[in-house]
Amino acid sequence: MVKRPRGTRDFSPEEMEKRRYIEDVIRKVSDSFGFREISTPTFERSELFIMRSGPEVVDQMYVFKDKGDRELALRPELTASVMRFFVEKLKNYPKPLKIYYLGPCFRYERPQKGRYREFFQYGAELVGGGVLDSDVEIINLAINVVRRLGIKSFQLRLGNIGILRKLLEGSSDVNESLKFITTEKFDDLSGRLAADGLSDKEDTILTLAKLKGPDVLQQVKGIVGDDAPEEVEYLETLGESLKGYVTDDIQFEPAMVRGLDYYTGMVFEIDCWELGAERQICGGGSYSLADVLGGEAIFSTGFAFGLDRMVLVLEEEEFSFPGKAVEVYVIPIGEAMRENARGVLKTLRENGISSDMDLIGRGPSKNLDYANSMGAKKVVFVGEDEWSKSSVSIKDMETGEQKDVLLDQLVDVLSK
Ligand code: AMP
Repeated sequence: MVKRPRGTRDFSPEEMEKRRYIEDVIRKVSDSFGFREISTPTFERSELFIMRSGPEVVDQMYVFKDKGDRELALRPELTASVMRFFVEKLKNYPKPLKIYYLGPCFRYERPQKGRYREFFQYGAELVGGGVLDSDVEIINLAINVVRRLGIKSFQLRLGNIGILRKLLEGSSDVNESLKFITTEKFDDLSGRLAADGLSDKEDTILTLAKLKGPDVLQQVKGIVGDDAPEEVEYLETLGESLKGYVTDDIQFEPAMVRGLDYYTGMVFEIDCWELGAERQICGGGSYSLADVLGGEAIFSTGFAFGLDRMVLVLEEEEFSFPGKAVEVYVIPIGEAMRENARGVLKTLRENGISSDMDLIGRGPSKNLDYANSMGAKKVVFVGEDEWSKSSVSIKDMETGEQKDVLLDQLVDVLSK
C-alpha cells in the first residue's frame, strides 16, 4: 500500500468543516477591513526565496528541476511570492494596497503536532501606507481575526527589529548576528561583534535580549540611550495606539527577531500557550522586499497565520464548530414512491434547502439511522397514504415530533 508522505495530512469531512469555518471567518473579517483576496502559484523560481527568505527557510525548501532545467521550489512562505506579484503586476494599483491570501506552504521540517511539511497559511499585506497607521491596521486585523474565530486565550508580543538593526550597524552580516541573538548563541555573537569592532554594543544587546514584559519600555529607553532612540520611541507610540483600541494585553520584546530576514521595523507574534512548543499562531512585521525584487522601495507590513494551528487552538479550547450536515433527508416508503421522492428532493434543492435522499433502497428505519448519523435536522417521508392527499410527513430529528404537511407548503415549512 502506498502511504502518504511524512509531514502531510489528509483531511476528513469533519476536519474540512472546521477548516472551512476558519476560512469563512478569515474572508469575512479581511473583506470587512477592506483587504482583497489574491492568489499566487504554489511553486516559484527558487531564487525568489533564496534572495530574501533567509537561510533557515532555504535549508528547508523543496527544490527541484523541471524538464526545462529550471530550478523551482515549492513555496516555503507566501510574502516573497506576493511581493513578486506586486512588483510584476500590482504596483500601479491605488495605494495603499490591501491584500490577503490563503494557501499551502512547504517546508522540510521535523513533523510534530502543529508542525508539518505541508501546512496552510493565511496572510495579509498592506503596501504603500503610512508607517504607524499601517502597522496599527495590520495588527488590528490579526487580533480581530483571532477574536472573531472565538479563540479565547492568546497574547500579542511586540518588538521593533529596527532597534537591533541600528545597534548592529556596521556589522559585516547583520542577519547572521540577529540569528545568533534569536538562537541565543551569545558566544558566536560576541565573536562576531568583536570581529566587526562592535564589542561596545554587546552589553546593550545582551541586556535587551532578556527584557520582556508589558512595562519594560522605560527600561529599554535607559539601556538603548542614544543608540536607537527613534526606534524605541516608535515601539512606544505603536503600543499606545494599540492599547484601548486593539488590545491592552501587549508583551513588549525589544529584541524580538523573526525567522525571515526581510523584516526591518515593527515585528509581532501572537501566541496561544495551550499549544505548547508550537504556540505561535501568527507572525508578522514591516519589511522591505519590493526593492530587493527589482521594484521601488515601498513601505510594507503584513503577517502570516498558521491555519493548522488555528484549528488546534480552537479544538484545545473545545470550541463548538458549526456543522455542515444536510438539513433534510428524504425517505421514500417503498419503491413505488421513489420517483415522487425524487421530485420532492428536486423541489427542495431548487429552493436552496440542502437535502439528500436514500440512494440504496434501504427500509425506513435503516434510512432513519443513516439520516441521524449524517446529522440531518429533518426527515421527509414520502408515503403512499400521504401522497394521495398531496402531502408528505416531516419528522424533526431533534424533538422526534412528526406531522403531515401539504406538498405546496413543504418549502415554506422547511425554510422556517
Ligand atoms: P513564518 O512564515 O515562519 O513566520 O510562519 C508564520 C506562521 O505559520 C507561524 O506562526 C505558524 O503558525 C505557521 N507555521 C510556520 N511553519 C509551520 C509548519 N511547519 N507547520 C505548521 N504551521 C507552520
